[in-house]
Amino acid sequence: MPCPVCESAAEGKELLAVIASVFNQWRVSGSKVTCSDVCHERLVACLEAEYGTHYRCVRMSTGEEFRVPTRDIIERGVKERDLDQYPHWDEEDGPHART
Ligand SMILES: [Zn+2]
Repeated sequence: MPCPVCESAAEGKELLAVIASVFNQWRVSGSKVTCSDVCHERLVACLEAEYGTHYRCVRMSTGEEFRVPTRDIIERGVKERDLDQYPHWDEEDGPHART
């Protein structure tokens, strides 16, 4: 997969439009998708601006909701078994995109 940050710049596309389409696949893979640290930081900033600094992840089997740093999702990927290390999502944390 080409670096989405460079690709969006080269094609004059909104970065968010490029990365939103592959965000779900990163959530589980945690693979590095950018070509450099500079691109990586741009990617994190863009996703945090869109989704917030924390992402609301739902454990499908129980319906529990967890508050997962957006950066962790991008850098490591978060699998269902990883969710226990994160705090539960409280309603006062506000609504965010659900998985
Ligand atoms: Zn790049």
